[in-house]
Amino acid sequence: MKKKYLLTPGPTPLPPEVMSALAKPIIHHRTAEYSALFVEVNNGLKSLFQTAEDVFTFASSGTGAMEASVVNLLSPKDKVIMVEAGKFGERWLELGNTYGLDVIPVHVQWGKAVESSLIEKLLKENPDAKAVFVTLCETSTGVKTDIKTIAAITAKTNAVLVVDAISGLGAMELKTDEWGVDVVVSGSQKGMMLPPGLAFISLSKKAQKMLETSTLPKYYLNLKAYKKALDKSDTPYTPAISLTVALTEALKLINDEGLENVLKRHAVMAEATRQAVKALGLEVFASSPADAVTSVKLPEGMDGSKLYKTMKDELGVQAAGGQGDLKGKILRIAHLGYMDASDVILGISALEVALGKIGYPVKMGEGVKAAQKVLYQINS
Ligand SMILES: *Cc1c(COP(=O)(O)O)cnc(C)c1O
Repeated sequence: MKKKYLLTPGPTPLPPEVMSALAKPIIHHRTAEYSALFVEVNNGLKSLFQTAEDVFTFASSGTGAMEASVVNLLSPKDKVIMVEAGKFGERWLELGNTYGLDVIPVHVQWGKAVESSLIEKLLKENPDAKAVFVTLCETSTGVKTDIKTIAAITAKTNAVLVVDAISGLGAMELKTDEWGVDVVVSGSQKGMMLPPGLAFISLSKKAQKMLETSTLPKYYLNLKAYKKALDKSDTPYTPAISLTVALTEALKLINDEGLENVLKRHAVMAEATRQAVKALGLEVFASSPADAVTSVKLPEGMDGSKLYKTMKDELGVQAAGGQGDLKGKILRIAHLGYMDASDVILGISALEVALGKIGYPVKMGEGVKAAQKVLYQINS
């Protein structure tokens, strides 16, 4: 027998309620039945996104929502500030360059978060900048961006703030309306406890105005078509029906637990993981760590891919390795979506055993003990 445990920052494990919903017979989308379900989904999404505005849903991976934010708000040669602090920030730059924007790149050392004061300075120097693009949880490094402070800065300018919350939504605080975040993009396979395939985007009133002036080419991703349909509880094209049905179940689970408790659960799992890592004599890679995923800095000379493979192939526990320049140098353990205290213990235990197997002098059980202290508030 080879049981598998998924501890990656997307895709994440599926709750049984979601899996059952996915197995239901397909229904037609131009029906009262689907309409009612779609209304329920849209209301649930507003709560999750913490916004009174519409949240648009369409079939694509999360990157589709990132692209939608670019093509719906901007026009060729528009000046934009794009923060690149990891693999997913790089994607903003690639999108900006693909669409011929005048990109001001903000390169941040991987593992660090962008300084809000730098964004403030760049906006002062570039009053014509139309948008600032950042990442709530930079999944490749495990870094959290201070969205609240950055939103307070962009709110005083003509620029909108676009946040990639693909891994952060439902795991970390993001008060969209209250903080003045203009655009939030997300995807289904991370904190939302669904398979990949749905993308989401919300727009503030300030961002909605930009839909009227944007001239970048778009067809499937044209949010005006989605808005027109949404006002009739409909979709312009065939929606991903089964995923949307399953989304009602995921939103119910989040609602039953309460968003505040969901975020608290993630914060506790993250803290337990960080304490465990330190107890094992290792370092957390991120200077301001996110609550969706913990990146573990591996000691100089350790073969990171061997560690990853040992966990996956010998212990059945799949974490994530490093991406780009971080390949082999970090290990990322997710605590995201349908995961709880026991998943953290499992991940840390597997990490300890795998470290031992590859010859790292590990004090077996020390990480687990540190995690238990945080997770179960055990003092001894
Ligand atoms: C996973 C992820 C993406 C990419 O999403 P896809 O669904 O693979 O397109 C983008 N940004 C962040 C921060 C992510 O974690």
